[in-house]
Amino acid sequence: MSKITFKITPFVKHKIERALGKSGDYETGGILIGKKIEDKSFELIDISISDEDNKFSISTFIRGIKKSDRLLRKHFKLKSGYYIGEWHSHPKYSLIPSPQDVATMFGIIEDNNYGVSFAILLITKLNDNHLDYQGYFFHKSLNRIIVLEKSPAPKTQYNKLGR
Ligand SMILES: [Zn+2]
Repeated sequence: MSKITFKITPFVKHKIERALGKSGDYETGGILIGKKIEDKSFELIDISISDEDNKFSISTFIRGIKKSDRLLRKHFKLKSGYYIGEWHSHPKYSLIPSPQDVATMFGIIEDNNYGVSFAILLITKLNDNHLDYQGYFFHKSLNRIIVLEKSPAPKTQYNKLGR
C-alpha cells in the first residue's frame, strides 16, 4: 500500500477549530465519521467532541461513549458515513502520535467490538487560530503506520526562504 489521501470537509474543519478553541491547553477529541471516496482516498464528514466524561488533561484524553454513539447512529440512519477512526488534540505537543496513541489504535483494529480492519488517527492543534492536523492510517494487515497525504495539498507552512 502506498499513498493514501485524506480530505476534511469545511464543516469538519470549523467544528474541530471551535472545539480546540474551547478546550485551550487541554486535550479534546472524539470519533471520526467518514467514507471511502476512492480506492485509496477517504473523506472525513463529521466528528464527535466526546468530552462528556471530563477525562482529559494537558497530555491525555479519554473519549466518552455517549456522544460518539449518538453520532454513529445518526450517520448510520442517513447512510452518510461510518466510523473511520479517532481524533484528539495535542495542544502542547507535536502532531506525532505518542506510544499510547499508537497502542490505542492497534487495540481498536484488533478489537472485535469495533469490527474494523483499519482505523485513522487524526491529531490536531491550533496554530495562530488555524487548524493544523496530521492523519495516520492503521491497518490490521500492516505492521507499520501510513502517514496520510492531505487533499487538497495544504499551503506551504515554511516559506522562510527569503523570497
Ligand atoms: Zn495523542
